[in-house]
Amino acid sequence: MRVELAQALVDTADGQRAEEILRKCVHCGFCNATCPTYNLLGDELDGPRGRIYLIKGMFESDEVDEHARFHLDRCLTCRNCETTCPSGVEYGELLELGRDYIHRQSPVASLLERILLWVVPFHRRLRFLVRLGRLVRWFAPKSLKRMLQPVRTARVEDDGSEATVTLLQGCAQRAMTPEVNQHIAKLLRARDVTVRFISSEHCCGGLHLHLGRHDQALKHMTQNVNALYSETTTTYVSSASGCGVTVKDYGRLLGTKEAVALADRTQDIAEYLQQFTFERHPNIVRVALHIPCTLQHGQRIHGLIEQILKRTGYELVPVRDSDLCCGSAGSYSLLQPELSERLLDRKLTSLEERAPDVIATANVGCQLHLTSGTSTRVVHWVSLLR
Ligand code: SF4
Ligand code: SF4
Repeated sequence: MRVELAQALVDTADGQRAEEILRKCVHCGFCNATCPTYNLLGDELDGPRGRIYLIKGMFESDEVDEHARFHLDRCLTCRNCETTCPSGVEYGELLELGRDYIHRQSPVASLLERILLWVVPFHRRLRFLVRLGRLVRWFAPKSLKRMLQPVRTARVEDDGSEATVTLLQGCAQRAMTPEVNQHIAKLLRARDVTVRFISSEHCCGGLHLHLGRHDQALKHMTQNVNALYSETTTTYVSSASGCGVTVKDYGRLLGTKEAVALADRTQDIAEYLQQFTFERHPNIVRVALHIPCTLQHGQRIHGLIEQILKRTGYELVPVRDSDLCCGSAGSYSLLQPELSERLLDRKLTSLEERAPDVIATANVGCQLHLTSGTSTRVVHWVSLLR
């Protein structure tokens, strides 16, 4: 794709990187075929190719286009298009640049966005509001009600011992499904792995990044690196794929020696658990698996969870369109409730088609979002390992 950056952007790092990515696109449109919003809405501007043109237009004119903001806001950041693209266009990074550009030029934020950015990255605030919200959830709007589903909670201990593995807790997971890491810690300790939690762990910065607040995202990331990184820790493990995908990208985003090392030493829980064997839960056999976009398209981890679950004795039921997003997508379910709901319905229809015993997934956001629309039990997949 031919690109002529606006004069003011020619010598900027963001302009140059955007141009580099844009030039790889050959307008073929293959990516539209796997884009959930394009499939729902059928509008070229709600598909990756159209959004790429909108970002190109902004970088060439050096003007914020409200039309572009509208269609970029409707993108899930699921990166399915990146997996499909034969030319290697880094759409996720381009979208980051586009959203950051829009926010710099025209820093408007809805009240809901401000609340999300004030609450979600701080797990104590989030936990307090979640507890409060659960008490009055019947009066909350539908889109918020789903985030307030009651879940069984358990205290996660900081065992303070020398680490073999540091488990990343994540903000939403720590506040809403802490039993997941509790269970992982038990599994690992039973296999003689020393597990450590860092109580000062900070937000990974993913939410700010997705909402176009690049500078604020970098601040959170730097604080997180300072809290987590130690030279002697060789393995960090994340069980919330939305956080894992961000931490694994710290090398690109921050570029410091510590950030690069932390990113290189971070694994998704599936990567770490593949070395062990487990037993199946006696009352569960048939599992419908939803692999989050942040795992399959972001971290490019394919087939690993399937392999571990099959080896453990579970039957994985076939799921149609398993590459498509469930509509959770970080804050998307709150900021774009109507589209999110349509994607949820479609995803649950596919997941429940073969009447599974449970639905399993690998990210707290997907787990809560899917739970809100079904009576089938939805679990983090590690809960199936004994
Ligand atoms: S598939 Fe890749 S090269 Fe083709 S239009 Fe989409 S982003 Fe561009
Ligand atoms: S990230 Fe997802 S929703 Fe956004 S353009 Fe790509 S495929 Fe479509």
